[in-house]
Amino acid sequence: MSAPTQAPEQFLDYEKSLACIHCGLCLSSCPTYLETGDENDSPRGRIYLMRAVQDGRLALGDTAVTHIDRCLGCRACEAVCPSGVQYGNLLEHTRDHIEKKITRSPFQQFLRRVAIEKVFPNRRLMQLALLPARFTKWTGAEKILPKFAREALSLVPDDMQAGDLPEFSPAAGAPSTVSARNEKMPATSRGGARRSGLVGFIRGCVMDVMFGPTNANSVRLLNAAGYDVVVPPSQGCCGALHAHNGNLAQAHDAARTNIVAFEKLELDAIIINAAGCGSTLKEYGHLLADDPAWVERGEKFSAKVKDITEFLVSNWTDFPSALRTPHSALRVTYHDACHLAHAQRITKPPRELVKAVAGNNFVELPEADVCCGSAGTYNLTEPEMAEQLQRRKTENLLRTNADLVVTSNPGCLLQIRAGLKKAGSPMRAMHIADFLVENLRSNSAAD
Ligand code: SF4
Ligand code: SF4
Repeated sequence: MSAPTQAPEQFLDYEKSLACIHCGLCLSSCPTYLETGDENDSPRGRIYLMRAVQDGRLALGDTAVTHIDRCLGCRACEAVCPSGVQYGNLLEHTRDHIEKKITRSPFQQFLRRVAIEKVFPNRRLMQLALLPARFTKWTGAEKILPKFAREALSLVPDDMQAGDLPEFSPAAGAPSTVSARNEKMPATSRGGARRSGLVGFIRGCVMDVMFGPTNANSVRLLNAAGYDVVVPPSQGCCGALHAHNGNLAQAHDAARTNIVAFEKLELDAIIINAAGCGSTLKEYGHLLADDPAWVERGEKFSAKVKDITEFLVSNWTDFPSALRTPHSALRVTYHDACHLAHAQRITKPPRELVKAVAGNNFVELPEADVCCGSAGTYNLTEPEMAEQLQRRKTENLLRTNADLVVTSNPGCLLQIRAGLKKAGSPMRAMHIADFLVENLRSNSAAD
């Protein structure tokens, strides 16, 4: 990377950064600090670096950029901070500043500006880009690739299915796919025609291309809970990829697109099944805070956004009786996705759902809320630290002797599956929507 031109700019909300009282209580929650023990890889150290750059006391050179790049954006620090430091906000603005001021290597430029910002949010481009990866896996040619490429390839699932392809056996009246058209998928509440309301569903980018059946299962759960579901066709990427990658202008555009797509519909809630997207969707008001024409519309949109687990626990009147309990002798554990546990502070509802099925066979995962190293696209931009954290997560998973780990974010699923495969473990990793649908009473011939 080349050196920037000087003249300090005010890129941080100074009050938010001053809230840090340097107490250090966040250090033991920070995955990168746990791995390196370096203060510059801790939240406190990074806030110090951000402020030093803003004040002009430190040039925006390798030291600052390296340690800010190495941050996962997991927001574990934010969840434990007694001073209410909004670390996620500080990080997004710092990254936006960095990307405007420095020149990355050609490879990092391609990764960030093309792969992450253009290909991942575009369904067709992503499907095309994954073809050579799948072909390489199919031929076994990955063995001759360099380590970085092998790591990236290990994240591509063997059995991915796009949103048009899901095939499941819906209960009577339910749809057979997550439709791209703006049509209702009707409630199929067990034991009657009760209808509780209407919700919108966000398809997500990675979910849509790699986890189509999981999206279909999510709709099926919402239908089973008594809700009609609509999937507005004009929705797009939530903007998380751009916001976390230092491109706030594109994140703002993404937010505006989704607000327009949903605001005319009279919805009880807007449901998302990917934790990383959910935390950004819930923060459109903050994201658009400097745009008076949109801030209120952003706040109204975000107020309706619910993670599928929090929505089901509060609104599914047949829960838990709609589920087969206990599931079997399988030992089941749960991994907290960072953007669900830390950014949205949702830890109980998914556990309640998993425990309803697993009963006494539920086992807590040590360090359940420590990042698995996926962190959106972090495993591509910072592969070394991502691999260290993947190994840490895998070792903790193996300690549980579980047969199955359940989680609620596509990035975590890909990262955890790849880690378990490397370790030669037969443990399965499932999205919580797939786990619940597999255990719906209406799926069981015995019921
Ligand atoms: S971010 Fe919060 S917890 Fe961490 S040092 Fe600052 S005030 Fe303390
Ligand atoms: S966001 Fe995560 S990795 Fe970054 S400083 Fe906070 S705890 Fe550490």
